[in-house]
Parts: sequence; C-alpha cells; structure tokens
Amino acid sequence: MTKSAFITGITGQDGAYLAKLLLQKGYRVHGGVRRISHPETTRLAALGIADQVTLHSFDLNEINNIVRVIRDTPVDEFYNLAAQSFVGASWEQPIYTGDANGMGVVRILDCLRTYHPNTRFYQASTSEMFGLVQEVPQRETTPFYPRSPYGVAKAYGHYITMNYRESFGMHASSGVLFNHESPLRGKEFVTRKITLGLAKIARGSNEVLKLGNLDVQRDWGYAGDYVRGMWLMLQQDQPDDYVLATGVTTPIREFVRYAAEALDMELEFMGRGLNEMAVERKTGRRILEVDPDFFRPAEVDLLIGDASKAKSSLGWHAKMPVKTLAAMMAQADFDALRA
Ligand code: NDP
Ligand code: GDP
Repeated sequence: MTKSAFITGITGQDGAYLAKLLLQKGYRVHGGVRRISHPETTRLAALGIADQVTLHSFDLNEINNIVRVIRDTPVDEFYNLAAQSFVGASWEQPIYTGDANGMGVVRILDCLRTYHPNTRFYQASTSEMFGLVQEVPQRETTPFYPRSPYGVAKAYGHYITMNYRESFGMHASSGVLFNHESPLRGKEFVTRKITLGLAKIARGSNEVLKLGNLDVQRDWGYAGDYVRGMWLMLQQDQPDDYVLATGVTTPIREFVRYAAEALDMELEFMGRGLNEMAVERKTGRRILEVDPDFFRPAEVDLLIGDASKAKSSLGWHAKMPVKTLAAMMAQADFDALRA
C-alpha cells in the first residue's frame, strides 16, 4: 500500500530534500506551508518536485489550524521540520521562537494523540541543545546546556517528544542533528553566507565578506545525507532518539579556505580579534573582515557529534566530507550567479 507522510517546513532546506527522498520511495507527500504574502516554493522547484506534493496552509503558532489540518490529513508518518530555525534571530524574537519551536511541537503531538495516535512522529531536535558542551564528542546521553532562546525552545520540543512517547506509547522519535548544509541552505547561515559571498567576489564583485566570531567550530554535514537518517528513524520498530553527525569538527576559517580553493582563490588570514581579515594571496585584495554586528550574546564554541548509535542501530553514516560540501556549495553559488 502507498505510504503517506506530512512534512511541516516543507519549503525549508530539509523539507525539500526529505520530500524528494520520500517521493522517490513512492510516498504520497503532504507539506505544511505558512501563509505569507508570496509563498516561497523555490527549493521544491529547484529539486523539480513542486508539483508532486500537496500543500496545506499550516502554522506552528495557530492551534485551530493545526487541529483541522492534522484531523483531516491522516498520514503514516509526520515529520516536524518547521521552526524559527535561525539561532541569531532567536534573541530578537525569543517569545515567538519559544512558541513556534517549543509549544508548536506539543500542539502537533497532542493533535496526533487525539486523532491519529498510530502516526509515527519525527521531531527536528538539534545539537544547539548541547550549547556549552558538557562532553566531547556529544552523544544522546550528553546533558544539555543550551545557549540561545532557540536552543532552549528546542530542548522543550525534545523533552515533550520523549514525554509523549513515554506517556502515551506514541511512536515519537527525535533526531539530534548537527549542522547540515547544502546549496539550498538559508543565506543567513554562516556556510551559505561564505559560499555566496566568495562566489560573488569570484564573479568580480568588490564586496568584502563580513563575518562574526571566527573562533567557533562546527560539525558540518550534507543535508541530503541527514534526511535519510530522519526517514530511517521512523522505519524502526521502536521509537528512540539519535544523534546524526559527521564526527569531524571544522573551524570557520577552514571552511572559508575550502570554499575559496574551490573557486581558485588562495587566502591568507592575518590580524587578531576584531582586526582579523583574509586577503587573497595573488592580488593582496581584502576578501573578508570581522564585523562585531554578527557576534552573538552567548556563543556555542565547539560542536562535534558521535553518531555511533545511528550507525549501529540505523546503519546510517554521513557520506559527504566537509571539504566536498564547501566546494559543492561554492560551485553551486558560482554557477547560479552566471544566470
Ligand atoms: P529552514 O529554515 O530552511 O526551514 C524552516 C521551515 O520552517 C521553513 O519551511 C519555514 O517556512 C518553516 N516555518 C518557520 N516558521 C514557521 C511557522 N511558524 N509555522 C510553520 N512553518 C514555519 O530550516 P532547515 O530545513 O535547515 O531545518 C529544518 C529543521 O531542522 C528546523 O526545525 C531546524 O531548527 C532543525 N535543525 C536544522 C539543522 C541544520 O543544520 N539545518 C540542525 C539541527 C536542527 P518559510 O519557508 O515560510 O520560512
Ligand atoms: P548555528 O550553528 O545553527 O548557529 O548556525 P550558523 O551557521 O548561523 O552559525 C554557526 C556559527 O558561525 C555560530 O557560532 C556563529 O556565531 C558563527 N558565525 C560567525 N560569523 C557568522 C555570520 O556572519 N553569520 C552567521 N550566521 N554565523 C556566524
């Protein structure tokens, strides 16, 4: 029998890749789209699937809307990928972020419990919950210490998913996913900001790439690999929580170097702190500088995940190394600028 799935946040990076994967597996795919003045389905279009999914008006912050959509759209699997997903914005909109990323999860879970208790549920949890890390590398049992309103709200979403599993026997799982990127990543996230900025410079722009704290390290993987992990979690007999990560952490400077190399630019970093910059070796031209506007009130300095549970239980591992990822993103931005 044809399986069906509902994806909240289907217009986002992960939503688009997951929709594509599920369509390839023969699922009927429904997606939640919030009402905005100009619906943004460019990612679905980029993957060639915009006309293969059924879209529903859906907002995490609106209980009556969630009740109607969930009641009237029975599915086998429900993936909650929608969120205010940008950590930086969560200090500007902490209450909205808490409502969407925290309360939004329990709104969905409670509707599923009421109308379709046998639907399998996936919650998009995050390595940001580890924040000020209590253990290196981080795994499922590492205590949380979130450092942003985003991380705090996601921790609520994580625990309420676990609680509905334990209270009501629901098949509810959380994926604690480390940063994952792609050419479809939002432009405000650091990887995409870097690849797009460098691609513009390689195309002749005089802009200087302005970044915040260059001292952080992240465990960056490819979104296409990670959505496969989400799907695998819902195919298990028992629900559970899993870390998905590459196990490799990379400083921002290194990611910049990888992207620049892919565009035939060799960079040299010089200076310290707010005076740090990068220049192109060949021309001496300043390519990158530090801008205090992009620093955060509290920082997550180092993330590196241990995905051995996902490997042994799901047979999942991250396939794409970060250097390939940076090159792929830089090349995609460079090619798109030709148009
Ligand atoms: P994106 O920002 O690309 O997508 C977020 C999606 O959520 C968009 O479709 C957006 O809609 C939708 N959305 C935002 N607010 C609401 C709302 N109030 N009601 C309904 N929909 C809403 O994020 P990603 O695809 O990168 O991430 C997917 C999920 O995984 C998120 O929950 C994120 O927090 C989490 N996550 C992501 C990681 C990553 O590295 N990418 C790491 C760990 C967790 P619109 O298109 O209208 O903006
Ligand atoms: P996050 O890990 O979900 O917060 O993903 P981001 O890509 O937004 O940020 C990753 C890290 O890059 C954070 O520690 C940021 O402080 C750091 N960073 C440094 N400069 C920038 C910048 O200009 N933009 C963003 N988004 N992050 C930056």
